Amino acid sequence: MKASKMLISTLKEAPQEAKIDSHVLLLRAGMMKSQVAGVYQFLPLGLRVLHKIEQIIREEMDAAGGIEILCSALQPKELWIESGRWSKYGPELMRFSDRHEREFCLGPTHEEVFTTLARDLIKSSKSLPMNIYQIQTKYRDERRPRFGLMRGREFLMKDAYSFDKDEKGLDVSYQNMYDTYSKIFTRLGLHYQVVLADTGNIGGNGSHQFMALSDIGESEIVYCDACGYAADVEKATSMPIEAEAEEKLLLEKVSTPNQRTIEEISTFLNVNPNKTVKTLIYHDYVNEKLVAVVVRGDREVNEVKLVNALNSNENYLELASDAEIESLHSVHGFVGPKDLSCDIYVDYEVTKLSNFVMGANEKGYHYIHANFERDFTGKVCDLRKNVEGDLCPECGKPMKLERGIEVGQIFKLQTKYSEPMRCTYVNEEGKNVPMVMGCYGIGVSRTMQSIVEQYHDAYGIQWPLNVAPYHAVIVPINYNDESQQKLSLEAYAYLNKEGIEVILDDRNAKPGFKFKDWELMGIPYMLICGKRSEEGFVELKNRRTLEKEELSLKDAMDIIIKAVKSI
Ligand code: ATP
Ligand code: MG
Repeated sequence: MKASKMLISTLKEAPQEAKIDSHVLLLRAGMMKSQVAGVYQFLPLGLRVLHKIEQIIREEMDAAGGIEILCSALQPKELWIESGRWSKYGPELMRFSDRHEREFCLGPTHEEVFTTLARDLIKSSKSLPMNIYQIQTKYRDERRPRFGLMRGREFLMKDAYSFDKDEKGLDVSYQNMYDTYSKIFTRLGLHYQVVLADTGNIGGNGSHQFMALSDIGESEIVYCDACGYAADVEKATSMPIEAEAEEKLLLEKVSTPNQRTIEEISTFLNVNPNKTVKTLIYHDYVNEKLVAVVVRGDREVNEVKLVNALNSNENYLELASDAEIESLHSVHGFVGPKDLSCDIYVDYEVTKLSNFVMGANEKGYHYIHANFERDFTGKVCDLRKNVEGDLCPECGKPMKLERGIEVGQIFKLQTKYSEPMRCTYVNEEGKNVPMVMGCYGIGVSRTMQSIVEQYHDAYGIQWPLNVAPYHAVIVPINYNDESQQKLSLEAYAYLNKEGIEVILDDRNAKPGFKFKDWELMGIPYMLICGKRSEEGFVELKNRRTLEKEELSLKDAMDIIIKAVKSI
């Protein structure tokens, strides 16, 4: 490809919307262009990268026995009524009606579509197990679309669904996808960690997430170096702690005027925040009730664990308003679990504390020397977010915390969809039974940006060779110089013949400008034709190491060809 004929749209400055390096670089390098919040156009170079990532995924999915199809993004409401998700999915689902008032949505995921497809098309149990997948555009009206492709409202996903006769079969299909995902992310060069993930109301240990490690990741991972335990913080648990061996003191109400936050109250009463508890009131819209949640003062409530404990839905759970708190005869800033007229959920850790501080449900008052069971009770469960240093639930050693970007998730669905949607097969006893399903997603466009997040420097993107938009670029210092032009064209013809994806920069621009441009775009090899062109010598610059070497054209081209052939 000649640069003069390409749609190159590199930018000097990043648009203001871009807050993280990978987003800035994808825009500045002209890989994509923003349309509206969370929606992007892929430009030629970006599209080539996207296609290469797709192809690696496709190759591994096919090798694992997957069958590729392509479904529409448009899905009728009836399918979602059948699965029961039309009312449950919440505002992320993009819904609309056609001219006949028939309701539709743009698919945020395709469980309903694939379940009915399998129901209608898999005729014999002999076809099972089967794994069907697609690489297709998804729509989610995210509350906060941000960080470019990381959290878009329109994004590319590879989604696969497996259909098995029984749980044992599902275990095999699931492991197959676990191994396949590991191969895919390894081939893509990502530094990643596989973690146990929350499975919501399905329960069990039937889900893993693949996390690209990065400080800008929205997910937190808790892991143990000693035994390898790793879990998303939403799911992570920890080893139970011992109860404090303290003599229980008498409960006492003390005046704490205007001291509302844990910080204020612990300073005012001169106690460590870990000797206080906080009580949060939530409105659970699914079960239509107010609930109180009690955790240690210096802890955070893990809302995913809470949703599971309540059998609710995260889109339908909100902190209660002041008026709602008052309806429980309490007051914001002074809420406590004693004599509170609603269901009370107590984090396990609180039950091990002695003589702590808690709100007295009266403006300007707290209790000191409070104790669980003696002064209040409630349903005890694990409700807090884990933190660095918590003890590993498997081996008891202190755990670490790291951030990650969820690039993929695999999930044992079991019969959650096949049962209500009657996706069945006839078993050996002649009975109609639901197929046992798994689902497996990879965020293709999010993966693309995660690669940039892990592969960039001060000058721009450093694409790994196997996903780079082009392998090499030939840059003559001055294209109007006869010998430089001749050597460039010779290199261009030869590399093309060898199957190298190569660009010839035939633009009439300053060499510094051209070098900067390609470094920003992240082309792995730059072949520079300069002063020694007449003698057949060039410079070869490696984008990753930034090392430059003077070589004969033949030797330089051999290095590129050898590298490309080895991917
Ligand atoms: P998240 O927790 O990040 O919102 P999710 O768990 O809702 O993601 P899944 O339903 O598991 O997402 O979708 C499969 C994959 O699709 C995710 O692992 C992620 O890589 C990708 N993905 C999900 N939402 C988005 C989005 N808004 N933009 C880009 N990629 C996304
Ligand atoms: Mg997920």
